[in-house]
Amino acid sequence: MFSEIIMHKIGRNEACPCGSGKKFKNCHMGREEELWVIQTEKIKTEIAQKITDLPEVAYGRSKEFAEALDIKKMTKNPRHSGVKFVDFDAYVKLEPFDKKNLKAVHHQSGAFIVNPKKTENVDAENIYVAITPGIDNSSLIHELAHVLDFLGGSGLLPGSASEMSVATQIPMDQLDHLKEYGDWLDCLKDRFAVDLNAEDMIIAYLNKHDMLIEASLLKNKDIGGLISRSQRMTEFLVRHKDEIHELIKDRIGYLGGVSST
Ligand SMILES: [Zn+2]
Ligand SMILES: [Zn+2]
Repeated sequence: MFSEIIMHKIGRNEACPCGSGKKFKNCHMGREEELWVIQTEKIKTEIAQKITDLPEVAYGRSKEFAEALDIKKMTKNPRHSGVKFVDFDAYVKLEPFDKKNLKAVHHQSGAFIVNPKKTENVDAENIYVAITPGIDNSSLIHELAHVLDFLGGSGLLPGSASEMSVATQIPMDQLDHLKEYGDWLDCLKDRFAVDLNAEDMIIAYLNKHDMLIEASLLKNKDIGGLISRSQRMTEFLVRHKDEIHELIKDRIGYLGGVSST
């Protein structure tokens, strides 16, 4: 309805696009920017409705994991209490503008956390996670650890440190998987006895050796601190290359070498 504003100028005597029933000249004429706010809110709610209407899917052990977690209790976050898994392709169809982001963030793992800002005005309780049918259980807990870390850890979603990654030249992998994240991954791995895939094995190994970067450095934009912690991690990876190779060589997602994280 509000696209009319883009298409042509609204006549003074036409009905106001805000839906008040008044003539435009007696309503939003002169306050057109408010119409944009209304329109943006409306589109947001429409998208939220579509995402939250998606049917829940059960791939791998996703249902078991989602049902077992008492997120409120675990994270002490009063707002969100659950996770809903939806089909990745069905979600992507609803998000024409986000495809570039989706590719950049975690597409290898077959999972993507929908930013809760997109769904909270329709469903404030649940965090939506889009997953692919072939997802492995390690990737499932990887994503759940991101949810827990967002609600009760670093407070960050994957991808949110991209500016800092550019500024510091630190790989996104290192900034997405902070110490706080690593602790949640450990917790879920133990709780559900999941065999970690190659990527998650490296994160767990780094955490065991206290090599993951603390969220506080990122929050304080401590560039010097971040760079020195990242260098320390990279040197550690090089020094322990053979050991890590042994750990991951038979695991899902093994690509034939040790990457930066
Ligand atoms: Zn109006
Ligand atoms: Zn991740």
